[in-house]
Amino acid sequence: MNLQDLTHIKNLIDTPRYSVIVSHRNPDGDAIGSSLALAHFLQKKGHTVHIVFPSEYPPLFQFLVEDVDVSIYDLHSDAIKPKLKMADVIFALDFNALDRIDRMGEFIHGLTCPKVMIDHHIDPEPFAEYAFWRESASSTAELVYDLMKEGEYMRFMDPQIATSIMCGILTDTGSLSYSVSPEVLVKVAELLKSGVDYRELQDKIFNSWSAKYLKLLGHCLSNRMELLDEHQTGIIHLTKSDYADFDIQRGDTEGIVNYLLKLQEVTLAVFITEQPNIIKFSFRSKGDFSVAAMAAAHFKGGGHVNASGGFMHSSLEAAIRKVKDVIKNYPQLSKSEIQIP
Ligand code: 5GP
Ligand code: MN
Repeated sequence: MNLQDLTHIKNLIDTPRYSVIVSHRNPDGDAIGSSLALAHFLQKKGHTVHIVFPSEYPPLFQFLVEDVDVSIYDLHSDAIKPKLKMADVIFALDFNALDRIDRMGEFIHGLTCPKVMIDHHIDPEPFAEYAFWRESASSTAELVYDLMKEGEYMRFMDPQIATSIMCGILTDTGSLSYSVSPEVLVKVAELLKSGVDYRELQDKIFNSWSAKYLKLLGHCLSNRMELLDEHQTGIIHLTKSDYADFDIQRGDTEGIVNYLLKLQEVTLAVFITEQPNIIKFSFRSKGDFSVAAMAAAHFKGGGHVNASGGFMHSSLEAAIRKVKDVIKNYPQLSKSEIQIP
């Protein structure tokens, strides 16, 4: 798998086809923004496009889902399978291994049509024939921009595509506070010139919380936060009964882990949730401490250096114990040694 296969990808784009775009489970702003941006672009190129997400997306992002056929595999797999079989090409956005999309991944694995991975997560698996992969990208949405720019398609850029791309960049960079390079700021400027209503988009993404979320956040910070001062680590966990008490739906816990990093003394943030069948971990870090390496080595996961996830089949208590054991064995997390840039 060539990781920068612009020529082949251009060939696929330049002939109108039935294109299916898939992204990862629990789609976030980048999964949704990049998928919608690519979909609008391909539709302008004459493709028939269908987006499939493995699970539902947060209602917050509904404003982006316009003028494109979007379905949810968890809800309608029987209707979606024939469409996937009919696809001339499958674009896989914002994930790099088919196990990130669960049962849909098993189904896609059996299909023979060409697959194109567009992604920025480390250690991609070679499940796609073609790839546009850059670890340096802030977001997959930025890669959709790069694809349009480097593929010489900028004449197709419009406010709808630009807004979708900007949504992915803003959500994956914490509103331009991390993974920011001079290049991404230039692209953001270009997107503004293409007609993004920046203030409106900021309000839609970041200032549209429900009271329920604010109360859940308060609960996490007041009752579920544990600080391991010696190891510069903050842990928040949520139990099954928290899920019931706070009526937590998919996506409602998004972003809570980041609050731990607001503490100056915290270098590693861990968010642990008791899901129906698994324990899910979200990891965030400051500086050089790689949560991707930690997630891969101990929690069957991966992601980025400073933002990763993983899972475990165990009780919540055992999962919390395991995290603490693992943390204690990382010398970089002992107070005196870590350098926070
Ligand atoms: P989040 O904590 O927001 O769910 O995920 C943070 C990052 O870690 C995302 O880039 C996501 O792709 C990655 N990630 C989350 N969970 C897993 C997992 O179970 N396996 C792998 N390989 N990556 C994950
Ligand atoms: Mn992303």
